[in-house]
Amino acid sequence: MGADRTGRSGTNARTWVAPNAIGGDYPHAGSGALLRLTRSLARGLEPQGLAGTRRGIVLTAFAILAYLAVFLADVLSPAAITIGSLSYVVVLVTAWTLAGRTTVALTIVAVGLRLLASLLGELAPVTALAQATGIPVIAFVAYTGARNILVARRSREATQEVAELHFLLKTTQTLLANLDLDTIIGDAVRATAMLIARGGAGGTARAAFHQLEGNRLRIVDDLDGRGPTYRHSDYPLEWNRAAVTAIESGRVATVTQQDLSPELQELARQGGWSGGALAPVRAGDHIHGLLVATLRDRSAFTVGELHLLEVIAYTAGLAIGNAQLLNRQRQQTDAVAALDEAKSEFLRLASHELRAPLTVISGYLSLLAEGALGEVNPQAAKALALVNTKAREMRQLLDQLLDAARIEDSSLFLKKEPVDLRELVAQAAADASPLGEERDVEVTVPDKPVVVTVDPERIRTIVGNLVGNALKYSPGGQPVRARVEAGERVMVHVSDAGIGIAAEDMPRLFTPFGRVARGDDSRIPGTGLGLYLSRELARLHGGEIEVASTPGRGSTFTLELPREA
Ligand code: ADP
Repeated sequence: MGADRTGRSGTNARTWVAPNAIGGDYPHAGSGALLRLTRSLARGLEPQGLAGTRRGIVLTAFAILAYLAVFLADVLSPAAITIGSLSYVVVLVTAWTLAGRTTVALTIVAVGLRLLASLLGELAPVTALAQATGIPVIAFVAYTGARNILVARRSREATQEVAELHFLLKTTQTLLANLDLDTIIGDAVRATAMLIARGGAGGTARAAFHQLEGNRLRIVDDLDGRGPTYRHSDYPLEWNRAAVTAIESGRVATVTQQDLSPELQELARQGGWSGGALAPVRAGDHIHGLLVATLRDRSAFTVGELHLLEVIAYTAGLAIGNAQLLNRQRQQTDAVAALDEAKSEFLRLASHELRAPLTVISGYLSLLAEGALGEVNPQAAKALALVNTKAREMRQLLDQLLDAARIEDSSLFLKKEPVDLRELVAQAAADASPLGEERDVEVTVPDKPVVVTVDPERIRTIVGNLVGNALKYSPGGQPVRARVEAGERVMVHVSDAGIGIAAEDMPRLFTPFGRVARGDDSRIPGTGLGLYLSRELARLHGGEIEVASTPGRGSTFTLELPREA
């Protein structure tokens, strides 16, 4: 995929392989065959810096052969002086192409052979001496000149690379720091304009963003040296074939006249645009639009510029993706918060509204059970007792729901007073027996009063929940114990020898509606609110509830409270 390739190469813009679509120069009017020929000739004459490369080795072999040919021709021919001078050319070319040590070797051999030819009487001593002196001089001058040019070129390239890298870093930083879509697009367009900044035809290079909307492209951001001169702020995608290519390949594409519909060609003529390139801005799988760069000076985009344009578009896509993700998360968080608020409100309202009729029902049930409204036969009395039990369960549930809503919106307040914890625990234990069945709870308390400053009603609720659970979750009638321990902090341990709790269920124990009983045990009635409320109430007192349990062996819940809560 295009985005993938772009993503990887984004880490090192210089090692990119230019995609076919961008090739070398942008083909626009004015860049004729003659110009291209001149350019490649000029490039060919530049020092190549081939020392150590494969081409350098081939060239070296070629130079040795060429030199030997010159020497033989020199020795065998009567016009020795003229041919011998050709060795200058061989040495010069070798040195210019920077064959390094080969130049030195060739120079030594050349000088040696000149002198040998003179000794053999093939060359006049004066000529041999002149050539033997000239060869190293030419080699040295050519080699040093070429090396200086190369060093200067490399340093220029390095400076430009650093400048490009700096520009890229700055752009990436700016784009990724944005969370607003329009700002990201605006910044990407401005960075593009900076990248291709040059004048021409009475205006500057132009950068724009063409937003993809279905099958149309809309120009939403446009930095034009002359101001907006276009008539079509919105045009069909098929008017611009380069745009289709860029979108399909996910890569940058250059625009030629032939890519444009007659309408867009006319527009380009009016705007004085000589060349264009566009890069797709992709957020995830969605192409958001195209970053467009156009020139007016009849120059061409360099491969480096096209790469940078692609990186800006890619980064803008990333930034848009980030912004969209964050906005979605924000919306979700807001929605969850609103839902949470609605839930608390609903719980408060429902429990409040249901409590009033339930009070009336319970009142009449008591009157009926007491016989105040007439004689009740034994069968009806049994039914009444059951209905009464269910009404009490309902009331308990409503109270729990109301407390949960209050805890969630922090509107539960404690009414604290000094009390003897021993009495509270004894009362709670006595009240906690499951309705309809009487079971004893063994309560152990210190001899001396254990005075704590707490909301007695709330502490009774906590201990009631713990003892109630201990009884409920030891369905075989196993003993349940409550023990008060007084120290710097006071503790109430409630232990049972019931079903126990598995370690993996522990994290859910104190969460709202967190029921964890499994299998047959799940038939034990409950709301999953008791432990949640108990821990929250304990924490409101500056205390805590801890649990230790072994499945099948029983559990111990410990309420810990400061003396002065
Ligand atoms: P519930 O109304 O379901 O009892 P609680 O919040 O009081 O709700 O308890 C949450 C869950 O913790 C219970 O559903 C139960 O599975 C488990 N649990 C609480 N106390 C005990 C206990 N003493 N022994 C075993 N499991 C317990």
